[in-house]
Amino acid sequence: MGIHTADAIVLRQYPYRETSVLVTCLTDRFGKIKGLIKGLRGVQPSRYRSAMEPLTLNRIIFYDTRTSSLHLISQCDLLEPFGALTRDLAAMQTAASCAELADVIVESDEPQGAIFELLKQTLRRLASGDTRLAAVRIHFVLRLLRLAGFHPQLDECTGCTQPLQGQRACWSARQGGLLCERCLHQDPGAEPIAPRLLEALSACAQAPEPLALEAEEAQAIRQRLDAFLRWQLDRPLKTMRMSG
Ligand SMILES: [Zn+2]
Repeated sequence: MGIHTADAIVLRQYPYRETSVLVTCLTDRFGKIKGLIKGLRGVQPSRYRSAMEPLTLNRIIFYDTRTSSLHLISQCDLLEPFGALTRDLAAMQTAASCAELADVIVESDEPQGAIFELLKQTLRRLASGDTRLAAVRIHFVLRLLRLAGFHPQLDECTGCTQPLQGQRACWSARQGGLLCERCLHQDPGAEPIAPRLLEALSACAQAPEPLALEAEEAQAIRQRLDAFLRWQLDRPLKTMRMSG
């Protein structure tokens, strides 16, 4: 039976029996884990955020159970509450949407240090009052998809794999990227994408930080990414419906 220490961002929390909670966390060294914390409920509610609330960063001590993938969390200390999120509904919704996407994409018990860092930086950015919410989310989605290995294909046709430089390309959410004119029959729903928008999308996909985007551009990229996610993910995202 192993005992481990990890930094953990809480993705979800649910009540369990009288006084306990179940949490899903993304950790720095152990990937996504599910854990049981006994006796956490009934603690005096505080006006500050407390340990193991959703969208907080904590240091936890947990141990494996022999019988299931559920871990027992014996200690948790709040490291970063990202408290400013609670005072800004739009920033909170963006943060929740990023956390949900990480939850859907990351498999349990598979180390994903880079994705943990990405989520942590994104929560810090949102809590620090960065108001470019659309740009922050676009950056998060594109980096996450790249780290998870299923980012949209932006250089070549997803049908025939020919490079698309200089050619007119169509965006196909279903095929996971672009289609050349000859392959358009593969997705009747594919739509032309303006070269400028494609350039902006590629630039966002490569940028180490969120790029400044015009509102219209951000909206157009976001719509295409959301359609991509709807086709590529196994289950629909709740936060995507919420934020429209
Ligand atoms: Zn093609």
